[in-house]
Amino acid sequence: MISYDVTEWGMPLQQAIRDTPQAQGTEVLLRVKYCGVCHSDVHIRDGYFELGGGKKFLMSQRGMKLPVTLGHEPFGTVIAAGPEAAELPLGEDRLVYPWTGCGTCARCLEDMDNWCSAPRYIGIQKSGGYGDHILVPHPKYLVDASGIDPSYAPILACSGLTTYSAVRKLMPCAPSDWIVIMGAGGLGLMAVAVLKALGHEQIAVCEIQSSKWDAAREAGAKLCVNPAEDGALEQLKALDGGVWGVVDLVGAENTASMAIACLRKGGRYVLVGLYGGELALSLVPLAQRAITLQGSYVGSLQELREVVALAQSGKLKPIPTRVCSMQEVSSILDQLKAGTVIGRVVAKAG
Ligand SMILES: [Zn+2]
Ligand SMILES: [Zn+2]
Repeated sequence: MISYDVTEWGMPLQQAIRDTPQAQGTEVLLRVKYCGVCHSDVHIRDGYFELGGGKKFLMSQRGMKLPVTLGHEPFGTVIAAGPEAAELPLGEDRLVYPWTGCGTCARCLEDMDNWCSAPRYIGIQKSGGYGDHILVPHPKYLVDASGIDPSYAPILACSGLTTYSAVRKLMPCAPSDWIVIMGAGGLGLMAVAVLKALGHEQIAVCEIQSSKWDAAREAGAKLCVNPAEDGALEQLKALDGGVWGVVDLVGAENTASMAIACLRKGGRYVLVGLYGGELALSLVPLAQRAITLQGSYVGSLQELREVVALAQSGKLKPIPTRVCSMQEVSSILDQLKAGTVIGRVVAKAG
């Protein structure tokens, strides 16, 4: 099989040719058709996330060993399985839930693998979808996405799931409550689309690059704000009824500070983005304003089934997506790092 691997942290992906793996036990082998290219892979390829204060979160300390094939939005055809894999949709196309855990702890047994303390995520600790074949640990991680364009379905596994899980953490709320989305990259546009699909009406987007505003409005944002301009915070605070919730898809010190400052009493801040940094918080206002600060990381298997069903129902409007070849993934990661990509990119195998 051919794959595009990280062989050295921070360097371009390298093509590798090796034997196609054999499925053992409950494992399932898929021939990859498409794999979404996610911004997190920029950090993972670099080998670290910024923790702020000069500290780094090293992927090598999170069970990642090189060489590794990234790609955590895989979609492909089921072609083989180990002897213990039951109910196999052989020959059918499936979306892969990549956030797999140890498979045996209480969280994994309730399909909350994303909260497993010993993650074995596909495309991070385990070989991912930037190649032509992929092993999945168990058939339960295969999601039927029939009816959805196969070049679009992959982005539901990370971008769709991550934003769905984050947005759900702001529910229940009235459709007329203002929700602010920080960042109008692929995740930001997807968050707006998910909110619209769930029937939400009042959505504001904070994005410094005004070139991304048209896509945000197209996805359903009523208001676009440049957070770097004077008066941006006041503009958010003045929204009718105040800001009920913020989903921060950037996760930098300035987006977090603005998000927390703009919330109305009782409001919620959900942090998703991994740009990095740290925050000093005055504790008294946190209590007095009764606000909630919550982190959200990808989502559960059940949430992936829900966001796929939302897309199948036609309610989830597709965000701009373009298709590239697997050979181009490395340069797409460079473009994601430079912030020049509108929407999402999906790599096509073969
Ligand atoms: Zn991702
Ligand atoms: Zn587990």
